[in-house]
Order: sequence, then structure tokens, then C-alpha cells
Amino acid sequence: MSVFRNDLFLGRAALITGGGTGIGRGIAGALARYGANVAIVSRKLENLVGAAESIAAATGRRCLPMVADVRQPEAVDSAVNRAIQELGRLDFVVNNAAGNFVCPSAELSPNGFGTVLDIDAKGTWNMSRAAYRAWLKDHGGQILNISATLHYGGTPGQVHVAAAKAAVDALTRTLAVEWGPQGIRVNAIAHGPIGQTEGARRLFPGAAADQLRAASPIRRLGTIDDIVNLAVFVLSDAGSNLNGAILVSDGGLCLTGRLGLGVEVGPTI
Ligand code: NAP
Repeated sequence: MSVFRNDLFLGRAALITGGGTGIGRGIAGALARYGANVAIVSRKLENLVGAAESIAAATGRRCLPMVADVRQPEAVDSAVNRAIQELGRLDFVVNNAAGNFVCPSAELSPNGFGTVLDIDAKGTWNMSRAAYRAWLKDHGGQILNISATLHYGGTPGQVHVAAAKAAVDALTRTLAVEWGPQGIRVNAIAHGPIGQTEGARRLFPGAAADQLRAASPIRRLGTIDDIVNLAVFVLSDAGSNLNGAILVSDGGLCLTGRLGLGVEVGPTI
């Protein structure tokens, strides 16, 4: 049973980047479940179509699959304009798309570093800017960025992601202050490893996940539902005093200083 009202987001519209897989798909499904029409945006149509069909079938809301690479400002502008045209409004933008792979810093190429910065940081900016100009500046609304905790310490093999998520946090705080007076709230969720995802499996294979679980003060990794429920709370009226907040959801793991526990990146120079 849900703690949220079923009609919480009735009449609202949301756009979720990376909404065809993993955490983004979970958030898109939940917003639709609570009444919003949604657009899900990513590069690969095959990631989007099945998710859009199953979200629409399960919720009775509209779920539009839209192909766009968040690194390309023109494609992002088009996706935002199309979402507004088809859904009639745009209340929530969830910047969830990200790139990730594990690589020792000494072996990371400039291109590898730049690609993750481009997707996570510039992509978040491109989408926030497009949504602001096309809808939010005149109507208000919310931007929710999906960040991480790995840059709170030093997580080996993640220098590119750490830099990118630090930039996402900076965008969150800056836009919250600049755009708050126009009725726009900008917040972020910073979460730790989510056990069910490919990203966490890659970073913490096999026994590493068990080590991490044991290191967590609550002796478990996060779940997609943990992030989904927090996103619903932030976007609901219950979160109306949150702006520029970076909400940590990791069971207290980052407080232990053991974030990179078990990450194997091989010898570094
Ligand atoms: P995921 O399933 O790999 O999702 C990433 C999504 O981003 C995919 O749907 C992908 O779709 C999309 N994407 C990638 N590059 C894109 C681009 N250039 N343009 C548009 N879309 C793009 O990842 P996840 O594990 O659910 O993670 C979701 C978010 O949580 C990310 O921001 C991640 O950094 C954060 N996070 C995850 C964990 C974890 O344990 N999983 C921990 C901390 C933070 P296409 O391939 O179709 O483009």
C-alpha cells in the first residue's frame, strides 16, 4: 500500500531523462501512477518503447517515448517543446540520465572523462535551460536532479562521475537561488549504490556488494523504491519548502567514510 494519495499528481506533466531504464523508469512509473502524464527521453528507442507501453498500460496515463541525446542542445529543445505540445504543460523535469563505467584514473582517457561530464553535467544544464525557457519561467515548476554520494569521499575508479555529480550539485544550488523567485524549485537526490542496478553491479561485483552492505549502518543497499518514494515526496506539496536541497538517501553509508569499499580498479600509477 502506498503512503501517497493516488491523485497526487493528477493533471500534471513530467519529463524524465533516462526514463526507460533503472531508476528513471521507476520515477516515471510512479509519477504516472500518481496521475501525471509523462515523457521519457533517452538515446535508444528500444529502451523507451517497452517502458512507455508498460507504464501507460499499468497507469492509464500517457507515457511518451522521445529519442534525444541530452548532450545535444537542439535535440533537448525539441524534446521539451514536443513534450509541452503533446502533454499541454510541463510541471516536473527529472534529470536522471547519466553515463557510468569503472576506470582507474590513470587509465581514463580525456574522451572518457569528458563524455561523462557531457552527459551528467552539461546534459542536466541543457535540459534545465530548455525547460526554463520553454515553460518554467512563465509557469513555475520543479527540476529534480539525480546525483550521487560518491564524490563526498574518494571512490576509486570514479573520478569522472565524481566530477560530474559535483557539477550537478553546483547547478542544483545555483539554479535554486536564481530561479526560485519565479516559482521554480530545484532540488537533488544524492543516493548511494542501488543494489538492483547494473551500475552498482559493475562498481561492486560479487563479494564487494556484501562488504558494502555490511559497512552500511542499516546493513542494506538502497532500492529503486527508496529513490522513487523520495522523488515523489520532493515533487509533492509536502516538499514545498525544499529548494536547493541535496537530499542524501544512502542509509548513512557516506557518513562511515567507507564509500569506495571493495571497488577493484587494479594497479594505479
Ligand atoms: P541506467 O539504468 O544506466 O540509466 C541511465 C539512463 O540514462 C539510461 O536510460 C540511458 O538511456 C540514459 N542516457 C545515458 N546517456 C544518455 C544521453 N547522452 N542522453 C540521453 N539519455 C542518456 O542508470 P541507473 O542506475 O538507473 O542510474 C540513474 C541515475 O542514478 C543516474 O543519474 C546515476 O548516476 C544515479 N546513480 C545511480 C546509482 C546506482 O547505484 N545505480 C548510484 C548513485 C547514483 P539510453 O542508453 O537509451 O540513452
